[in-house]
Amino acid sequence: MPVGTYGAVKGMTPADLREVGSHIVLSNTMHLWVRPGDELIRDLGGLHSFMGWDGPILTDSGGFQVFSLRDLNKVTEEGVRFRTPKDGLYRMLTPEVCIRIQENLGVDLAMAFDECIEWPATRERVVASTERTTRWLKRCMAARTQPDRTALLGIVQGGFYKDLRVAHAQELVELDLDAYAVGGLSVGEPREQLLEMVDASTHHLPEDKIRYLMGVGYPLDIVEAVTRGIDLFDCVLPTRNARNGTVFTRAGRLHIKHARYKTDPRPLDPGCSCYTCRSFSRAYLRHLFLSNDVLISRLLTLHNLALYQGLMAQLRGAIAEGPEAVRALRDVVSRWHLPPGSTPGTAPEPE
Ligand SMILES: [Zn+2]
Repeated sequence: MPVGTYGAVKGMTPADLREVGSHIVLSNTMHLWVRPGDELIRDLGGLHSFMGWDGPILTDSGGFQVFSLRDLNKVTEEGVRFRTPKDGLYRMLTPEVCIRIQENLGVDLAMAFDECIEWPATRERVVASTERTTRWLKRCMAARTQPDRTALLGIVQGGFYKDLRVAHAQELVELDLDAYAVGGLSVGEPREQLLEMVDASTHHLPEDKIRYLMGVGYPLDIVEAVTRGIDLFDCVLPTRNARNGTVFTRAGRLHIKHARYKTDPRPLDPGCSCYTCRSFSRAYLRHLFLSNDVLISRLLTLHNLALYQGLMAQLRGAIAEGPEAVRALRDVVSRWHLPPGSTPGTAPEPE
């Protein structure tokens, strides 16, 4: 899912999103609540009509963003009271409010309101928080008025404790939700730890329901998570990087401003069939970047998203072919985010 926090994937029209192969987009409950307001969007026909997107929409609950406002929030059993930096107003986000907003937006997939805690955290803290997340999930379930229209996803928590993850996943499965998400990961932990927790979280989730890994990630992380049973991802990397001038290619990561592209007639990625790669040279794209033309942001975002969506399509094909094909794809993808010439498996360095 491309990320459209404020009801738009920055710089992309819905037609652009279709062009790169996106089927579903992600938006953010808390941000749309603050501005322009969920009731305004409801009165204008809902978020699909408001943003001109007729495909599925999933909204993040906003919990992660609220909990990120470290000095501005007060967490109680009722919910989270916080002050929005934009207007300085105090608001109270609760499970009930979270569901009401998402139903007003009319989205297809709504996320339950969960507690997000710091990392690392003690076992006691994680246990208490995971229990609260379950209580809040039950309140979310009770608050629904349109269960046939808006699916509800429960979020598996449990920090970095395998047994807590397994136990929480089993608890959620008993509640028979429409789909499941894995949360609380991708917070700076090593890749091995991330994958171990994904394993623990997904092992007991039903195979016939969507499993969504929140906030991941690099192409290689996506392939690894898919082999562990994850279906759905959201990530700001392809879009945010594009706006900064960084693109992923099959030969590695490149920054378009580099002088080495000044006279380079090649497309960003000779193996890519996106509009940007079909139409423009690296030299022209570098020129647009250095001219601060708004077009560059759109063209690079188109490419990065096309590469990510293409990866997902390739993964679907590889799964149908068998485990060998998936392993082969993992080897190919391991270098996509690295600077050319570096070794796969190492952390990406800033260029
Ligand atoms: Zn391309």
